[in-house]
Amino acid sequence: MSRRRLLAGNWKMNKSISELPAFFEAFAKEAGLDSDGGGRNNRGYDVLFAVPYTLLARASELAKPLGIIVAAQNVHFEASGAFTGEVSIAMLKELGVTWTLIGHSERRQYFAETDESVAKKVRAALNAGMTPVICVGETRQERETGVTKVIVGRQLDAALAAAAGDVDNIVLAYEPVWAIGTGLSATSAQAQEVHSFIRERMAEKCGPNAAKSVRILYGGSATPANIDELMGQPDIDGGLVGGASLKPADFAKMARVVSAGAC
Ligand code: PEP
Repeated sequence: MSRRRLLAGNWKMNKSISELPAFFEAFAKEAGLDSDGGGRNNRGYDVLFAVPYTLLARASELAKPLGIIVAAQNVHFEASGAFTGEVSIAMLKELGVTWTLIGHSERRQYFAETDESVAKKVRAALNAGMTPVICVGETRQERETGVTKVIVGRQLDAALAAAAGDVDNIVLAYEPVWAIGTGLSATSAQAQEVHSFIRERMAEKCGPNAAKSVRILYGGSATPANIDELMGQPDIDGGLVGGASLKPADFAKMARVVSAGAC
């Protein structure tokens, strides 16, 4: 089964509205990307930028005509109410945003996000017709003590239970915490081993068709230097890229690699 590749950038808490026009112009030019006239791009794979809330409106104006997806980095699971500082799914949809990251390790690490809150967000996003990119991954200590699959399996089970009935509308991202922002990417073999585990676990929980069709991205110090090798692995369908997505030339180089194997 062929899966449409997806290259996603996570800008975290970076960039300003004034930087956006030049960024998207340079990126699209260097990646050779344009609209296919039907809402997607002309290259046969998906490109997504998860940007801060304040950039969503302007980024959508600039990126969507190029067939580029604009996503939030987080959502709240409640529809409205006394949740100071939070943003609801309806508020995002009002801006035309229909994708979001959920459970990024920085949310789990610094903002007390748990498997339970991730599960609630996944369910709320799917109920509203949003596509969640659900992030899972182990810490350095967990890898060193040999419990990578226990941790990733636990995070995955919670998210998949929440997504029941809608697993065709999710994207998964394996992001080893020790590789994020450290310059120390997982090797392609390490990444493939966990991606293959995720697909097997998904087959057990959701059936073989869902497992074959779900897109699983790798994230953690992916750069123009290692993307080719990562994309050569059978269970890696794209990347979730932090640092290298901030520079249009670097991200465009990565996009060209992802594009080369696009169906
Ligand atoms: C990320 O933020 O999801 C990420 C993978 O960051 P980096 O590429 O900088 O490691």
